[in-house]
Amino acid sequence: MGNSDINSEITQPVGRFAPSPTGRMHLGNIMTAVLSWLSVKSRGGRWILRIEDLDPQRSKIEYMQRIEDDLLWLGLDWDEGGLDERGLNGPYIQSRRYGYYAEALRHLQATGQTYACTCTRADILATQAPHQSDGRRVYGGRCLPVHLGGALSESEAEARRSVPHAVRLHVPQGDITFTDRLYGLQRTDLSRECGDFILCRADGAWSYQLAVVVDDAMMGVTEVVRGNDLLLSAAQQIYLYRLLGYRVPEFAHVPLVCNKDSRRLSKRDASLSMESLRRDYTPERLLGLVASLAGLCDDASPVTLTQLTETFNWQMITPAAVIII
Ligand code: GLU
Repeated sequence: MGNSDINSEITQPVGRFAPSPTGRMHLGNIMTAVLSWLSVKSRGGRWILRIEDLDPQRSKIEYMQRIEDDLLWLGLDWDEGGLDERGLNGPYIQSRRYGYYAEALRHLQATGQTYACTCTRADILATQAPHQSDGRRVYGGRCLPVHLGGALSESEAEARRSVPHAVRLHVPQGDITFTDRLYGLQRTDLSRECGDFILCRADGAWSYQLAVVVDDAMMGVTEVVRGNDLLLSAAQQIYLYRLLGYRVPEFAHVPLVCNKDSRRLSKRDASLSMESLRRDYTPERLLGLVASLAGLCDDASPVTLTQLTETFNWQMITPAAVIII
């Protein structure tokens, strides 16, 4: 990054909303979008709309059109990005950015910390116990070569490179730390809590972790606001930022909105999807609901984005793990 980027960061915060166009947005997505928009707009910053369509089977242009229409209905307009690729830091659609991911992968491979992995999902399920807290599986190192501390001989590692394989990044022991704006100091030992992770799958699909870091860095994003289900990913991403020589942005993870069964809302929770919300609320009433759930207002009275922008402050938001609706 050049000096001009550094100067512009000091004067202008840059945030982004990065939906995957796999369905209609729900109240949780809206909460993230509103907080991320208010955070930069209350300080005269820019807001980017990036389209995370890395999964070609599930991503659909119609969903993206809906997402844009729903954001605009609420008044959340973007300065860069979207389907019409507004702005100078594009493309803003991930499926058009594969060349950048390939370049970053080459850089990471040159560090000597990556290796070819031919484990199938079944291999991983058979060899790794789920992580106690949330059922994730930490990769056990079946394809880890000797030179990175594993058991695989160099000739076996070479054999894996000559067949279709995923590229995994070896992660070190020791804590990655960062201060989340809402949840405070976070410490993650990547080797224990995440394990070596995939950068590119055997079928050529790019990993979310790699793509998001490359995109946020290249788009000059200074703050990442998103659901707290991605809190652990931040540590993986910070590790990638460092290896790639990018400056690490600030992180603000926000509470997940859950339904009455304490399950996180999914695009299938019809009553809280934008389709029904737009039938039942005006934009100001929905903003009032989101603002009261987040702690920005005492009650759910209708409110405008302009009013929220004037008073927005991260300290008003309760760092609850979940918000039950
Ligand atoms: N595309 C992700 C999602 O829709 C968000 C990723 C991010 O904000 O880093 O859940």
